[in-house]
Amino acid sequence: LQEVLIRAVELTSPRMDEKNMQFAVDIKRDVMVNGDANRLMQIFTNLITNAITYSPEDTTITLRIKYTDEYGIVEVQDQGIGIEKTEIARIFERFYRVDKARSRNSGGTGLGLAIVKHLVEAHHGKIYVESTVGKGSCMKVFIPIHKL
Ligand code: ATP
Ligand code: MG
Repeated sequence: LQEVLIRAVELTSPRMDEKNMQFAVDIKRDVMVNGDANRLMQIFTNLITNAITYSPEDTTITLRIKYTDEYGIVEVQDQGIGIEKTEIARIFERFYRVDKARSRNSGGTGLGLAIVKHLVEAHHGKIYVESTVGKGSCMKVFIPIHKL
């Protein structure tokens, strides 16, 4: 997972610089998962891009790799605007964007997370969201571990 995540960091770092944002990376141990490197990278770049888009300048995005017996876990945590509890269930729907008026300014299509969810499920994985409005969000992606 580490190699893929670092590539996602490299791809998104110009946008991080534009907003004077920083990555904090917390990887105690790398994990091998069953997955397609390009697809996994698409998942992480999407989540990082959202974390950048929905955060103010000068904030930090924390990336973690964790694991259980069954799953490698990547967490993307931001210090952004957060997501209302009632909206969390809907953000994975195609074309769904919280607060259309505000979101329109940031010019997305609302497809990013629908694609992420599709890709995660294609890997027999899971995705969870923890979020507090005004404090930030943490997206947790679970991908089955590669067992020899
Ligand atoms: P795009 O298709 O360009 O990714 P988008 O970012 O609007 O457009 P999604 O990535 O699917 O679409 O996200 C859906 C909505 O969920 C966003 O419009 C935003 O309101 C909310 N959202 C997603 N990630 C975050 C986040 N990290 N913090 C706060 N809100 C978020
Ligand atoms: Mg997006």
